[in-house]
Amino acid sequence: MLDKTEFYINGSWVPSIDGRKFPVFNPATEDAFATIMLGGEKDAQAAIEAAKNAFLDWSQTSPQDRAAYLQKLLDVYISRNDEMGSVISTEMGAPIDMAVRDQAGSGSSHLKAFIRALGSMEFQRALRPGIEGQDIVYEAAGVAGLITPWNWPMNQVVLKVGAALAAGCTMVLKPSEIAPLSSVVFAEMVHEAGFPPGVFNMVNGDGIGVGSILSSHPGIDVVSFTGSTRAGILISKAAADTVKTVSLELGGKSPNLVFDDCDLEKAVRSGAAFCFNNTGQSCNAATRMLVQRSIYNEAVEIAAAKAASTKVDLPSNEGKHIGPLVSEAQFEKVQRLIQTGIDEGARLVAGGVGRPEGLNRGWFVRPTVFADAKPDMTIMREEIFGPVLAMMPFDSEDEAISIANDTQYGLAAYIQTGNMERARRVAGQLRSGMVQVNGAPRASGSPFGGYKQSGVGREGGFWGIEEFLEIKTISGIVDSR
Ligand code: NAD
Repeated sequence: MLDKTEFYINGSWVPSIDGRKFPVFNPATEDAFATIMLGGEKDAQAAIEAAKNAFLDWSQTSPQDRAAYLQKLLDVYISRNDEMGSVISTEMGAPIDMAVRDQAGSGSSHLKAFIRALGSMEFQRALRPGIEGQDIVYEAAGVAGLITPWNWPMNQVVLKVGAALAAGCTMVLKPSEIAPLSSVVFAEMVHEAGFPPGVFNMVNGDGIGVGSILSSHPGIDVVSFTGSTRAGILISKAAADTVKTVSLELGGKSPNLVFDDCDLEKAVRSGAAFCFNNTGQSCNAATRMLVQRSIYNEAVEIAAAKAASTKVDLPSNEGKHIGPLVSEAQFEKVQRLIQTGIDEGARLVAGGVGRPEGLNRGWFVRPTVFADAKPDMTIMREEIFGPVLAMMPFDSEDEAISIANDTQYGLAAYIQTGNMERARRVAGQLRSGMVQVNGAPRASGSPFGGYKQSGVGREGGFWGIEEFLEIKTISGIVDSR
């Protein structure tokens, strides 16, 4: 059993003061393979104290110095990328090729974007051109509490840590207790890059423990959280008494609008594949496919065939398959929601409850497609976080937009059409933070985040750094010559 029970506080690996042991499971075998500690109040306090003590010096460094530190971290990260991918694959079940390329690779991509953004950001400027003695200064907001989930562990950790470091904040990271080992490797990388002690601290723990301490502690100025809307609401409430800045990247139920003038085969196949990617455990997964009625039946056939041909296999095997869900709790949740889809009358055209053939151990589920879903069905409203696609037809553009927006979420939306005027018109009416047309990826450094209950704030590049900055107005400093 791997022992990863220490925390990274004030530049050193230290034992827990008041934590308790907690097993980490391999989702492909259902066996515990590592032990961490869930930190207690004293552990969290020690980390917050270290971050507070390091704040003054780190916040006064120049953007150029911070960019140089981030570059060192990037170099270390790239040199250990494969190891990072392998750890992620074992702790949360992403297939090894995808874990190395996409899961681990997202970390270096975000670091590069932060370094680039730092190079062009102005941290001090005049209120407007030609005015004297009216300065606007962007400063580090203070000590940050960073709480991350298990589904894209390094993507989310680096989006927060990289931005906070770039802004000049010091921080305490609490990664997901379900996938904590990638953050242990990440903390080693930060150490190797030579950041001053106390700038970055990492304490493992659960939500009720370290998570709620970080969100309510007076020593924390900014909380940045990614995860469920449920936890996001609790964190916002816990942070209210000390009036912290809170950034939230929460759930989604993203629509994919398929119009009859798109390349149907390509749009539906890639839409379904995107829904199943990472075994459906992505906040921006395109889980509601709305299809123009004239092409609907054909689209259902294509999606069902795509699900049937999507291979589910062990994460340790190379290839383009999908792996298991992260945990037994997620497995039970996804099974329950597939059954609810059947019970509420959606037409099951691929997959269903139970494990895929040949896999009787591990939290593997079947890529599933429901046709003829209705907007009020549970599978159209709840974030399932599994490889489950719900499809329904629409008759007009207005109806498609109305169904797309009929959700508490507003993270991402997808449009498939050959008509760019239509794409622009529809994109302008979708209530979501990101719209992707015909599968065009968002470039690195783009702002990531959502409307409505999908969150508050943006991550990535310039916008991500801004979340960790305060704005100061200084009036009266004039040139003494
Ligand atoms: P979660 O939101 O409970 O956990 C995510 C992180 O928040 C973890 O680090 C956890 O320890 C912490 N946390 C939980 N409760 C907290 C609290 N009260 N205060 C402070 N921190 C807290 O996610 P989960 O329970 O592992 O998954 C449940 C559902 O959440 C999933 O099925 C999925 O729908 C959704 N989810 C969404 C995302 C996303 O990226 N949008 C990520 C993970 C989970």
